[in-house]
Amino acid sequence: MSAAPRSVSVPALNLKAQYETIRDEIEPVIKRVIESQMFVLGPEVEELEKELALYCGTARAVGCASGSDALLLPLMTLGIGPGDEVITTPYSFFATAGSIWRTGARPIFVDIEPDTYNIDPERIAAAVTPRTKAIIPVHLYGQAADMDPIMAIAAQHSLHVIEDAAQAIGAVYKGKRVGGLGHIAAFSFYPSKNLGGFGDGGLMTTDDPVIARSLARLRVHGMEPKYHHHEVGFNSRLDALQAAILRVKLRRLDGWTLDRRQAAARYQSLFEAHGLTEWVGLPREREGLVSVFNQYVIRVPGSMRDPLREALTARQIGTEIYYPVPLHLQPCFASLGHKPGDFPHSEAAARETLALPIYPELTDEQQHFVVGSIRQFLDAHAHARLAADRAA
Ligand SMILES: *Cc1c(COP(=O)(O)O)cnc(C)c1O
Repeated sequence: MSAAPRSVSVPALNLKAQYETIRDEIEPVIKRVIESQMFVLGPEVEELEKELALYCGTARAVGCASGSDALLLPLMTLGIGPGDEVITTPYSFFATAGSIWRTGARPIFVDIEPDTYNIDPERIAAAVTPRTKAIIPVHLYGQAADMDPIMAIAAQHSLHVIEDAAQAIGAVYKGKRVGGLGHIAAFSFYPSKNLGGFGDGGLMTTDDPVIARSLARLRVHGMEPKYHHHEVGFNSRLDALQAAILRVKLRRLDGWTLDRRQAAARYQSLFEAHGLTEWVGLPREREGLVSVFNQYVIRVPGSMRDPLREALTARQIGTEIYYPVPLHLQPCFASLGHKPGDFPHSEAAARETLALPIYPELTDEQQHFVVGSIRQFLDAHAHARLAADRAA
């Protein structure tokens, strides 16, 4: 038995702690925007777009109202709609497939790699049909999907690739940042993302100036020039206040990413020190990739996951399940005709994964308490059950 770790509360997310560190920089820029009385799009948004294009290594960036819209607008730009198919993963936040559905196209799911939770490139080719128009890989939890083979399949079949990079700003794939790996990429500034605003926000990156112009048009009802509409878009404008706040936070982003990576490394060594790596599957960073650890997701046998979560909740350790129901089994997609067993790796991940607290401000002491508590749970409850699971 291990010694009882010192009890300390560990929220799943602690945005307040981050705000304390930047309050002095944020308050003046909020004041600046208020004084300007220019609240929607405008110079703050244009500056943010320039800075993020530079950051992602793309020619252009276009702000919009949310990460969900940052997926929908590219699909609209590409003219994807009824009769078309778009390949994506069944193991993601709802918006990934929801955006495809909203255009009238059909989401075609391809199962994940069990160790990275990202779409398995080896399964994509078999899902391509004459109706396929695009692929949306998701860089889940902050680690890039395996983009080289995905881009090769796309080139072979003349498909567009839209990266869902909502969880992965700053992540590196073979020396290149996400956002510049596919044809268009979607980012989210939802407060829990690594670059989070004080509300909703999103952005798209691309190297194609024609696509960028079309995205910028569609986010203002397809208007260009003013009050002239050759196509129908919708309102997906980014607020100047969000842009101004995000510009301050962008200067800190790489430092925060390093802190997240350090916290992930510390979890790894704590799990090893407690001898838990046989029972607890840890995140795996692929060779040549740099994860930004938007989430730190562990894996335990399915029968243990929910009891473990309850035990941690009782100790004021916040956890989350990303995602309990894979997209192909969501009731709203019943007409696609999927059933349990269709995507076994995604379904197993939905049963077995648990996200532990991870953020730049997470302390050594908090991490000791999290891993020590998992150790105590396993000591107290799990050995018998694990043995039973294995015998079954
Ligand atoms: C957060 C998220 C989105 C949607 O972003 P919003 O800003 O909440 O609309 C899309 N895809 C993934 C993978 C996400 O995590």
